[in-house]
Amino acid sequence: MAKPRGVLIAGNWKMNHTSAETSGFFATLRAQAEKSLPSQAKKAFESKQLQAVVIPPMFSVEKAAKLAQEMIYPPVQVAAQNVHWEKKGAFTGEVSGPMLHELGLKWALVGHSERRQFFGETDETARKRTESLLEQGFKVILCVGETRAEREAGQTSSVLTRQIQGALPEKAKGAAKFLDGTLVIAYEPVWAIGTGLTASPEQAEEAHQTLRKLLWDRFGMEASGRTPILYGGSVTPENVDSLLACANVDGALVGGASLKPDGFLALLAAGAIATAR
Ligand code: PEP
Repeated sequence: MAKPRGVLIAGNWKMNHTSAETSGFFATLRAQAEKSLPSQAKKAFESKQLQAVVIPPMFSVEKAAKLAQEMIYPPVQVAAQNVHWEKKGAFTGEVSGPMLHELGLKWALVGHSERRQFFGETDETARKRTESLLEQGFKVILCVGETRAEREAGQTSSVLTRQIQGALPEKAKGAAKFLDGTLVIAYEPVWAIGTGLTASPEQAEEAHQTLRKLLWDRFGMEASGRTPILYGGSVTPENVDSLLACANVDGALVGGASLKPDGFLALLAAGAIATAR
């Protein structure tokens, strides 16, 4: 099989798309899917070899969840950009797992570099979110990645090790769930996010191999082999093929190029072709 873990394309909308714009996105996606997606896509979606996830800002999540439930083709799942580890309580401005479960959400993003850079997210808070969300039955996309200075100092591997050890301690609660691919890792070099400086396929594959080895060391061969590792950082319809061609790249986490339905469809089309290659 070309992609043993299938292909997951996740669109991180960041703080873009109001509720009304979210409706427009889904309407265009639905209208254009048949003509934009290759014939392989239907089978790939049916067999779950191809998965599409959108990650809207919190206020548009309810609308996206409703539209995704009504969507026939392409099937789209919805993730939250951030979720608190406690289920309820005095945490002004936060959102809990049960609130998102009620909307039908099954996915959450954890530890995105923008949360680390601007909102005080650490490996420790990423761990708390990851453990709690896995326990609550969510699928988690955990983001890791080095800064430009860290790469230039030759520290990529040690940074990834620190982030994985910090967010996924060996005795992480819910670790058994790693076995079924409930946990997804996104390798997102900070220097590549929103900059147009995509990692080369060689750089991506090297980092993904490091991550797979770290997962193997901590959770064993089976869990490591089943865990999808996405690449994120200036992915576009033009460069996604060469990244998906890497053995350990199991999909993409995409910001800017996922915002318009035609861009998202082009990324899904590439994903469909990669699963059938
Ligand atoms: C992201 O938001 O995770 C991301 C990778 O953004 P971009 O694709 O715009 O670099």
